[in-house]
Amino acid sequence: MLVRGVVFRLDSDLPTEAMFLLEDFRLAVNNAIRAGLQARVTSRNALAKIAYKDFREQHPRMYAKHLVSTFGVAGGILKNHRRRFRKGVTCKTPFVKRLMMKADNQAYKLDRKSGIVDLPIRTGCHVELRLIVSQYHRKYLDDTALTLGSLTVLPDRVVVAFRKATPGHYTPASVLSLDTNERSLDGVFVEGDVAKAIKAEFPDIAIIQQRHHDRRKRLQKKKAHDRRTSRNLCRREGEREHHRIDYRLHQVANSVLKFADERKSAIVLEDLKGFKSKRSKELNRRLSIWPRRKLHQIIEYKAQWKGIPVVKVDPRNSSRTCPICGRIQYSRMGAEFKCECGWHLDRHINASINLLQTAISKGMAGGLRFNPGAFQHDVMMILYEPAMAARSEPNGTSGIVGVT
Ligand SMILES: [Zn+2]
Repeated sequence: MLVRGVVFRLDSDLPTEAMFLLEDFRLAVNNAIRAGLQARVTSRNALAKIAYKDFREQHPRMYAKHLVSTFGVAGGILKNHRRRFRKGVTCKTPFVKRLMMKADNQAYKLDRKSGIVDLPIRTGCHVELRLIVSQYHRKYLDDTALTLGSLTVLPDRVVVAFRKATPGHYTPASVLSLDTNERSLDGVFVEGDVAKAIKAEFPDIAIIQQRHHDRRKRLQKKKAHDRRTSRNLCRREGEREHHRIDYRLHQVANSVLKFADERKSAIVLEDLKGFKSKRSKELNRRLSIWPRRKLHQIIEYKAQWKGIPVVKVDPRNSSRTCPICGRIQYSRMGAEFKCECGWHLDRHINASINLLQTAISKGMAGGLRFNPGAFQHDVMMILYEPAMAARSEPNGTSGIVGVT
């Protein structure tokens, strides 16, 4: 089952009764966390077993299903806490700070036509929440293949989880193989006998990283006498950086997926797991791997949602191997890969051909073949370039899981 959270703004302020519910819910979650830590349990059922009776007495009027849902939320937090604890990260007793509540899909009603949520508070008391519905939201509300999951209510917005049975993916009619680099995705698109170079450029992501890094450095120096302020400012800087980069990564991913979907391509990516670069510290930071990992996550996740097959292959030697004769080059090279056998090509695109060869040799490309001789050296298709991100900056509503 695939789940996607979609954020809705509210038409008006949250009704007072609902605000009280959020406060009660938060209190109950924090109590459940404490109970769970004491009893050393983390599962929703175990928590319910040890704490439900007391909770019923403490919150006599709360709708029973909401009360049960607090155990689910507390359980999730406890599991994270336990994971961190086992990793040896020092951490305090966790608690929920912000006001929130989560309603099970049985515990609320959403009219998908009008966008009105009927949320029970306690016996005989319901509130109505009017959601602001845009075209983007319509896509989810009107799609009958999607069922409703949980509803998360926050003071200024709600998140509706839409669920979809995991779709089988289509049988690929072509392949899109991509080498992931700091400033671009470079690759090759193969359809029948034709192979073309492909590029999606995102140089601004590295620039944003650099700029925010410098700013953080400056902040740390300026606030060296006040570690708390310095830490807070740096955290805010980091969040801003993540938002800005996230927005661009989603755009790049969307352009890749749109291309693949239209041509019924399988996507080949390198497996970035265990990627460790042996560069200097300074360079390591500049070439930090997380935007690339994040980009892969987004592509894989969205591809799954749309039923586009994605294949991940071991990138070992992909940038040094000649796809024609198989020689491996250990000397440094420039922007162009050149082989003794006469083959030469842009280094990154060459790497993507090797990724594709690996996928084919492992039988992971659905029976599709690639003939390097059919490569059209003079054709370059651009999937994405910064000019396409004409909309300058995301507004407050994007940090959403899965913007399309
Ligand atoms: Zn060669």
